[in-house]
Amino acid sequence: MSTTASQQGLTARAPALASWLDAHAETLDTDATLSGEVVPQLASAGLLRVGVPVELGGTGGTIGDAIDSVADVAAHSFAAAFVLWGQRTFIEYLLQSPNQALRDRLLPALLCGELAGATGLSNAMKYLSAIEPLQIRATDVTTLSSSGVGGGDTSSWRVNGGLPWITNLRKQGFVAAAAVDHEAGGPPSIFAIAHDAPGVHRSDDLDLIGLRGTNTAALQMTDTPLREDDRITDNAPAWLVRVRPAFLGLQCGMSLGLVRRSLDATNEGGPAARSAVADDVAALTDQLASLTTRLKSGVLRGEFVDTPASLFKLRISLAELVHDAATLEVQTGGGRGYLRGLSGVARRQREAAFVPIVTPSLVQLKNQLAAQREQQLKTGTVT
Ligand SMILES: Cc1cc2nc3c(=O)[nH]c(=O)nc-3n(C[C@H](O)[C@H](O)[C@H](O)COP(=O)(O)OP(=O)(O)OC[C@H]3O[C@@H](n4cnc5c(N)ncnc54)[C@H](O)[C@@H]3O)c2cc1C
Repeated sequence: MSTTASQQGLTARAPALASWLDAHAETLDTDATLSGEVVPQLASAGLLRVGVPVELGGTGGTIGDAIDSVADVAAHSFAAAFVLWGQRTFIEYLLQSPNQALRDRLLPALLCGELAGATGLSNAMKYLSAIEPLQIRATDVTTLSSSGVGGGDTSSWRVNGGLPWITNLRKQGFVAAAAVDHEAGGPPSIFAIAHDAPGVHRSDDLDLIGLRGTNTAALQMTDTPLREDDRITDNAPAWLVRVRPAFLGLQCGMSLGLVRRSLDATNEGGPAARSAVADDVAALTDQLASLTTRLKSGVLRGEFVDTPASLFKLRISLAELVHDAATLEVQTGGGRGYLRGLSGVARRQREAAFVPIVTPSLVQLKNQLAAQREQQLKTGTVT
């Protein structure tokens, strides 16, 4: 299979990873046989260190560069890009955490791909939007543990609850970020929960229609002990507002790569098909360039911390672009796209179907924007 323009970025900077992904993209989507290899492959190509300061073990650069890496991988394999999103987003949580000891403890293993990082914060994002309550509760046991043998003087808790969906729960070892409500009251916290902590149970992989090589499962905690050393933040709502642009920016990277690849694939059709869609492809290509620039500069300049609505609108526009580009690819691919093993058309249709549902989902964002607009109308502050 020849390399398309959208694939040249990764092929140039990480040729071994690019060929591995091209050889296994279908397998990564349809079964779990290679699920343990994805994080080490991404690490060998150096992608986990992109946008991480050199003094912390990274290769420097910006969050914009990390968004580009996710997009580059998505042009080859959306499943691998989703794993990269989970891992790199967890790394970002540590970079933005005030808990330096936690960062020092976990970062080296995450950057070299020995440990997988999973982000279970959909529940927290939905909580922020008043859609659902937090699903994990913490009981403060500080007094109990500090009076027991060997007890320390730092806060400690026991947590109970679960998360129905988390990606990158690599069976060889993971740490998962989860938001936790405190029985004692106060703002919820976000903790890093280790795979081998007592009471942690990872389900079997969920029986997905695609993205099956992503180690996606449910996670249950029963009386799991956690300490201050495990806490990413003690004020989840305030911290999430600051981290959300990077979280969403990296997630949007997956859409950028998918759109690029689908638009490139329209060139693989015959001359008549190409000319029929040429104007549409040109319009979508322009939109892609403009959305890419706005996304990366907005995240880099920190604009979306105070104006999340503009980021939500970008996410919605990108999801619509994914849909339009994937549809054009189907049209130009003809019957070949409907035959197994001849192209990535069917796989990209499944991948595109995931984009609107990943949190924050399109319906969630549309409702939030509508509520905000209603509020502005009431207060006469429509812009
Ligand atoms: C393959 C896969 C991997 C995933 N990986 C992760 C992961 O790594 N980490 C993680 O945290 N999550 C993950 N998720 C969860 C995902 O991000 C979404 O949260 C989940 O798919 C949507 O939740 P639900 O199906 O329970 O939606 P439901 O709660 O059933 O809601 C259906 C839809 O309506 C929206 N909705 C519900 N109530 C409201 C409301 N009041 N106002 C507006 N909109 C509303 C929801 O956002 C959703 O789009 C994954 C999901 C899948 C399919």
